[in-house]
Amino acid sequence: MAILEPIEPSPRGRRRLRVKSPATLKVLGEVEIQSAEDVGQALERARKAQPEWAGTSFSQRRRILERAARLLVDRQDEFLDVLIGETGKPRQEALAVEILAACDALQFHAKRARQVLAEHTIPLHLLKTKKLCISYRPLGVVGIVTPWNFPFLLSLNPTVQALAAGNAVLLKPSEVTPFSGQLVATLLHAAGVPQDVLQVLTGDGQTGEALVEVGVDKLSFTGSVATGRRVAEACARRLVPCTLELGGKDPLIVCADADLERAAAGAVYGAFANAGQVCVSTERVFVVDSVADAFLRKVVEKTARLRQGPGGEADVGAIIHAPQLDIIEEHVGEALARGARLLCGGRRHPGYPGLYYEPTVLDEVTPDMLVAREETFGPVLAVLRVADEEEALRLANDTHYGLSASVWTRDKRRGAALARRIQAGSAVVNDCMLTYGIPEAPFGGRKDSGIGQVNGDVGLRSYCHAQSIVIDRLGSKNEFLWFPYTARMGRWLGRILRLLWGTRLARFLT
Ligand code: NAD
Repeated sequence: MAILEPIEPSPRGRRRLRVKSPATLKVLGEVEIQSAEDVGQALERARKAQPEWAGTSFSQRRRILERAARLLVDRQDEFLDVLIGETGKPRQEALAVEILAACDALQFHAKRARQVLAEHTIPLHLLKTKKLCISYRPLGVVGIVTPWNFPFLLSLNPTVQALAAGNAVLLKPSEVTPFSGQLVATLLHAAGVPQDVLQVLTGDGQTGEALVEVGVDKLSFTGSVATGRRVAEACARRLVPCTLELGGKDPLIVCADADLERAAAGAVYGAFANAGQVCVSTERVFVVDSVADAFLRKVVEKTARLRQGPGGEADVGAIIHAPQLDIIEEHVGEALARGARLLCGGRRHPGYPGLYYEPTVLDEVTPDMLVAREETFGPVLAVLRVADEEEALRLANDTHYGLSASVWTRDKRRGAALARRIQAGSAVVNDCMLTYGIPEAPFGGRKDSGIGQVNGDVGLRSYCHAQSIVIDRLGSKNEFLWFPYTARMGRWLGRILRLLWGTRLARFLT
């Protein structure tokens, strides 16, 4: 798991886990699992601290969050060492996706919050004697539960949005990468976020469950479909609003007119970046038969050039823990047993003691195979040949997932038209895996891939309640619709009804 081993309880009686690097198998440290009681006490502290934080101005919060971005630039090497130690990612990947994207998220949301969450008035179409104010009120204390695959960015990004909106945060990072999750607090506290406004809870599923049950005002969950479903059920029982960012089985469609060089490079990146452990990684490639051989030749050539291992120059890093390796082996084994053709890879890397699986390309995959149906979350590029783009679309949509997708064609307009027909929360034309990293772009899944969105205006606003405040402008002694009800008033209502909605003219008046 990082590799985890349960060890003897702490002197305080808390369960403990030992964390090892998946790349080197060296022990990285030990963590204490926080109990439901700890979670309850954290909530109490957060509740006390939140009003003062909410009382700070957007500019004050912006200054703190922007300071965090600068600190992250200065301390990037220290942060990278923790991230790489715990996940076994290549340094460049950690720098690009964890550090760079985190700086961008900090600065972008810090700056944007003021505009997106500013109180504003809306002229009313009918009740001209009233004024409507929309006020984005922070929800209070937000619980954030996150996974291990981008343990820093995926913990930081929702945290920044919740804080920028004036909430306090209780963050429960994955037990698999506890030290990377802790970095979020290290950074934001150093930048000036008060200790009790952001608290990190170390722990596993039990701590996460306690956080869902403790009575937070919103739960932002990123993780697997199975856990997301449990979280949603618990939130539903307590009527706690939640957003769920869950798994995917993203299709990549190669049209007959695609630039095959770029499409092959994109498919290899999409399938093998972060060793395939990305929610929006390319899990199914649909390639039109007429170009399939040429496309696959390029894919295999590019895959053969990838460097793997714990060194600084590697392209493909480690698999996070043994259960993930088991899933990858099961999916590849089942596909091969059922007639898929192995073009390269297909085994654990024999050269390293750590957890490495060779980048694997499978041809002649069929839609009923596990590798085409369930999230593999590993370095496996599964290719399904199709007669044309219509068949590709039909098969791409034949899944219970709906996170993201990509389409590759020289005709960008047609590419966008195909993308609109894919049942996915986001889609990319002639590129892949971009959408989470674009803070302007609302990101979230359809079908089993999630509920709600993070990022974009809608993401920031999801950490607030849009409170409608209606103010009477005239202050007259009585209102037309108030008591007493009279026959005269009834006649007037009938006339108004006909005038405003009963004629063609009506649509110009309302
Ligand atoms: P996971 O569901 O096993 O764990 C996620 C988090 O939930 C962890 O912090 C875990 O401790 C916690 N947890 C476990 N049981 C819980 C419970 N009953 N109540 C509350 N919290 C609980 O997922 P994972 O293996 O850490 O992450 C991989 C999954 O995450 C993949 O499916 C991947 O696609 C998905 N993911 C989705 C996105 C997205 O934005 N859509 C991003 C990254 C990862």
